[in-house]
Amino acid sequence: EIKRLIEEKGILADVELYEENEGIGIKKSGCHGFCEAGPLVRIEPDKFLYLKVKLEDCEEIVNTTLVEGKPIERLMYSKDNKVYHQQEEIPFYKSQTRVVLEHCGHIDAESIEEYIAYGGYQALAKALDTMTPEEVCKEISDANLRGRGGGGYPAGKKWLQVLSYDSDMKYVVCNGDEGDPGAFMDRSLMEGDPHNIIEGMAIAAYATGASEGYIYVRAEYPLAVARLNKAIEQARKIGLLGKNILGTSLNFELHVNQGAGAFVCGEGSALIASIEGERGMPRVKAKRTVEEGLWRKPTVLNNVETFANVRHIIMNGAEWYKSYGTKGSPGTKAFALTGNVNNTGLIEVPMGTTLREIIFNIGGGIKDNKGFKAVQIGGPSGGCLTEEHLDMSLDFDSLTDAGAMIGSGGMVIMDEDTCMVEVARFFMNFTQNESCGKCVPCREGTKIMLNILEKIVSGQGTVEDLDLLEEMADTITNTALCGLGKTAANPVVSSLKYFKDEYLDHVENKR
Ligand code: SF4
Repeated sequence: EIKRLIEEKGILADVELYEENEGIGIKKSGCHGFCEAGPLVRIEPDKFLYLKVKLEDCEEIVNTTLVEGKPIERLMYSKDNKVYHQQEEIPFYKSQTRVVLEHCGHIDAESIEEYIAYGGYQALAKALDTMTPEEVCKEISDANLRGRGGGGYPAGKKWLQVLSYDSDMKYVVCNGDEGDPGAFMDRSLMEGDPHNIIEGMAIAAYATGASEGYIYVRAEYPLAVARLNKAIEQARKIGLLGKNILGTSLNFELHVNQGAGAFVCGEGSALIASIEGERGMPRVKAKRTVEEGLWRKPTVLNNVETFANVRHIIMNGAEWYKSYGTKGSPGTKAFALTGNVNNTGLIEVPMGTTLREIIFNIGGGIKDNKGFKAVQIGGPSGGCLTEEHLDMSLDFDSLTDAGAMIGSGGMVIMDEDTCMVEVARFFMNFTQNESCGKCVPCREGTKIMLNILEKIVSGQGTVEDLDLLEEMADTITNTALCGLGKTAANPVVSSLKYFKDEYLDHVENKR
């Protein structure tokens, strides 16, 4: 049916272009994930991956590989005298399980035909054809898909709640306001596989009775905005968005809303205020978003990666999904691996994978053979994990128990030379700048904490300052209005817990 619609509505298939050139063509895909080695060129169908490609390499790639079919080994990944011809053999990729990232770097992100050719929109068709809205919600619930935006709240529960409300209007909102320093998972998903997000949202609309949706994307992601808009237009053109989707009674219209770059707009109520045209500030919530969200109507609010999981669950079932990950945190998780690690990039692993596996196998170890000191996980709301956590299972619950959080998935690796007090100061400076100023504990408290940290790193702190830091952290955490303030002190609290000797070194030795 989808293919018939494409033919009928006359979208130019890129396939024609390849046929004209005897099967040779060039496509712009999304991110392959191996940022450290970019720019990357993947050759299909051989699966060669060329690394650090320069403009002057292009002629050789065309003549040698595309025309003669031979690999160019000097452009390929090599280690211990072994050259890795195929992308999937490279250790960085081999240990990953790419579910939500499966299309990123592999398909033309601007082609709905390619998305459909790789099985896209089949989950939406399956849901509409064979499942009731209750069954869709139940499948997501049974899969125990937990929100990938940070909180880990079960998505199926949210959907069921929205479905249960009787309302003339319901909304589906996708939070693409990723703003953590060092995080770019959602950006890559939106840029590399925009139709996957749209399909997940359309399924959510069917499951909950919503008829309108918004994707909230920060304006600093212009490529994501452009590709999402293009994808929406393509889907609308062939009847996968709009009225009577695939000939059913489902009506679902989707819009992209650009945020202006305030970190706090990643907080649900601030994001909703921003879409409504108000200043993006958190609201004191009387009722939950599922009951009174956008324009006070029942609203499903999930992040990009959460929606990206939906079509896989609908196509393969909850049991398949639960075969990945841990009991309490099924599925996979995308992480942005950055900092002092050899292979920086975007990765996806089953929940429960250890830090050791991520840093030393996928990440290729610490840069310049230095020692590992810590990883800041979960951005400015998260905390640091140390050597003692290297073999801990990375999942929602274990991380919370360790005083950190998975957050959206930013992972900044730090080597033995990193000053942890400086790291805490960096994150506090970020949060202080991003505090919207609505409530006193966060507005004033983060300023006081930042001043103390600046005193300490400049060698002018005292032991009493450390007590004051702890006291302030406690007050802000317990009294701030929104998640930004409530978690602002986390990097300080966890670095004080694991690296108090470094604070004392600054204070006692005045450095
Ligand atoms: Fe604004 Fe901070 Fe208060 Fe949140 S906690 S409302 S960001 S001042």
